[in-house]
Amino acid sequence: MSAGAGTGFAYRDGALHAEDVALASVAARCGTPCYVYSKAALTAAYRGFAAAFASRRHLICYAVKANPNLAILNVFARLGAGFDIVSGGELARVIAAGGDPRKVVFSGVGKTVAEIREALTAEILCFNVESVAELLRIDRIAGELGRIAPVSLRVNPDVDAKTHPYIATGLKDNKFGVAYGDALAWYRRARELKNLRIEGIDCHIGSQLTDVAPFAAAVERVIALVEALNAEGITLSHIDVGGGLGIPYRAEERADGIAEYAAAILNGSANRRETFLFEPGRYLTGNAGVLLTRVEYLKRGGERNFAVVDAAMNDLMRPALYDAWHDIVPLHEHAGTLESWEIVGPVCESGDFIGRDRRLALQEGDVLAIRSAGAYGMSMSSNYNTRPRAAEVMIDGANVHVIRKREHVAELFANETIPA
Ligand SMILES: *Cc1c(COP(=O)(O)O)cnc(C)c1O
Repeated sequence: MSAGAGTGFAYRDGALHAEDVALASVAARCGTPCYVYSKAALTAAYRGFAAAFASRRHLICYAVKANPNLAILNVFARLGAGFDIVSGGELARVIAAGGDPRKVVFSGVGKTVAEIREALTAEILCFNVESVAELLRIDRIAGELGRIAPVSLRVNPDVDAKTHPYIATGLKDNKFGVAYGDALAWYRRARELKNLRIEGIDCHIGSQLTDVAPFAAAVERVIALVEALNAEGITLSHIDVGGGLGIPYRAEERADGIAEYAAAILNGSANRRETFLFEPGRYLTGNAGVLLTRVEYLKRGGERNFAVVDAAMNDLMRPALYDAWHDIVPLHEHAGTLESWEIVGPVCESGDFIGRDRRLALQEGDVLAIRSAGAYGMSMSSNYNTRPRAAEVMIDGANVHVIRKREHVAELFANETIPA
């Protein structure tokens, strides 16, 4: 099964369902805004990914930042996943969710001393090291703790991922990893450090790639480097090709999927014996979630019609941040006159829109589903405008599990004090 926009969510008798549950009943019971995830869709996406690489020893390290809810991490942990983390907080989540720290890779350009200590103590699989300074820091801390730190160096293959500039990370002029041309010297340096064990090599070229050609190019560059390392007697246990496989955000959109992705990577690495690591985030969760929101007000007249909904940029930041598209659909397929609407939130920013020029038949009180909201939705949410964050729900067949309660306003300022 693909992770296409349809998996887990479908209309039955005119009512949009997540698996066997009508989304209208979730909105009535749990309120709005509310994130709803389908366990079947999460499972299908993971299994599809694993099946595509069945011929190759591999480990799927789910990128926690895409959606870090404990229940989501637990679904993947039970399926055998490892995890890609970018903070000590994410490591704590993985452990709390029942994940295995020995299947964790730690990425990110700013690992603190405390985070490195925690990760060494938890015996993670590997540090994806992003600078020479970090390499030296990890070596020193490992020495203090009397441990050997497993490391992988993040190289920048310098391929153009042709995605939004904010989520392109593989070009030479960005803050991630080490320049391709410096990588060999780096590995020689790492080999001399006593408290490190060279475990692998790693890259991550960007996010939301819907054409797999850049992945093929990156793997080719990385493997050329692995061969050069082998020639110097440096052998690796794994090759980590990062995350970044995109998803279709529009029902009618065509995007390369897992089959094309696997072919690009497997063809380019036919004779390699290393274990392959993957760090998919969006691909595993993006189309497994929707955000339910209620129409508060309809404002007609003027140049445009506005539908003010109760979800805002603090709940789902992608439209405001990346000008991203999310399909917005009604919970009931009803007849009615389609009109063009600007779907906007209540936050005091003109950038607070969810969708522009959407043809919908709307009435006040209607609930809408914002699709493809399972990745970088809740995880990028904030309390801007003192808005409690949304509830999160996981559907499993006919069962509705609240996996995160809606926040209360009092919690939002519980840590604040007024000086006497
Ligand atoms: C964000 C990130 C990922 C996941 O990216 P997706 O596009 O969600 O697959 C993987 N690895 C690293 C290092 C990242 O920063």
